[in-house]
Amino acid sequence: MLTASPDVGSSSQWQTIGNRAAITLLNGAIKQQRVSHAYLFTGPNRVGKRTLAIDFARALNCNVQDIAAPGWGDLQPAPPCGQCSACDRIARSNFADVQIITSSTQSSKDPDARSAQRRVMIGIDLIKDLQSDAILEPYEGRVKVFIIDEANRMSQDAANALLKTLEEPPSSVHIILTAPSEESVPETIASRCHLVRLRSVPPETITDALIERYGVPQAEAEPLAKMSMGAPGWAIAARKDPSLIDARKQSASRIIDVIKADLPDRFDYAFKMTQEFRRDRASGLEEIARWLEILRDVAMLQNELYQHIVFGDRIEELTDLAKKLTTQDLAHATSTVQNTRDALMSNSYPQLAFDAMMLQMPTPA
Ligand SMILES: [Zn+2]
Repeated sequence: MLTASPDVGSSSQWQTIGNRAAITLLNGAIKQQRVSHAYLFTGPNRVGKRTLAIDFARALNCNVQDIAAPGWGDLQPAPPCGQCSACDRIARSNFADVQIITSSTQSSKDPDARSAQRRVMIGIDLIKDLQSDAILEPYEGRVKVFIIDEANRMSQDAANALLKTLEEPPSSVHIILTAPSEESVPETIASRCHLVRLRSVPPETITDALIERYGVPQAEAEPLAKMSMGAPGWAIAARKDPSLIDARKQSASRIIDVIKADLPDRFDYAFKMTQEFRRDRASGLEEIARWLEILRDVAMLQNELYQHIVFGDRIEELTDLAKKLTTQDLAHATSTVQNTRDALMSNSYPQLAFDAMMLQMPTPA
């Protein structure tokens, strides 16, 4: 449901979908004037980490008290109000004291690097820019907020430089890092940040948001929300970009084929996945996530939980797998994929990881 919980303030305008616990925590910090200088927002891809960071920056700089009429009492909107100039301009990335630092910011400075955009790291020059800006007083806001998006892509030099700022942060500066997990940023950095974990959002919450905020018809919103696997950002992007849905479906049918394939074809897949992972790490990990979705669908079918199936368009093949794989096979397959994901994240050799996964994957009887 989109209705705000009472402790968040019924009239505040957080754009984050789901993750009320994180919102409540941040809201509480503002109310109690105990906002930390550094936060680390972790969670799955497109779950809403960056949106929450922008929401928080809006709440910290919101000027609702200036526009609210005296005597409004409880009717006065809570920050972020979504109505004042600060809220509006921060949402449009047009506010001097709120800056988002990403790896693609770097590549846009250097046109030659654009083709390698996804591989580019957040370099030390960006952190040095942050530092020289952070020592200045806020220009138009109450506080300065620097959002380092995908902080896991910081270079070693950049991380070392940032550490100095985190050790002695200027008084009116807040730094918010986003990353897939606590472990994906250097421990020295993570330990100096207040950790806020974002979790996958229930499909019903995403469905409601698609209908209420984006006017998506219910019949489209429901399958989109299911297919997003708890990532509202994916669902919002996919509603306008059918290629995202197609890619997900293609990846599903590729995986179903591999489960049914013999060893030479499986190794062929492992080879292609290794190349893909080397080319684009995120895309390789996305395919791994898809494996888990497919295996989950098969498990759901074994338990006759049809309403939870994500890849309903492949129901016949999935039902076939549900019959031919035992419960133990599925458990083994799932832990094999999870181990592969862990191996890939900890910088093991991708070829070894994918080969091992193909060898250990149970074959339908
Ligand atoms: Zn506001």
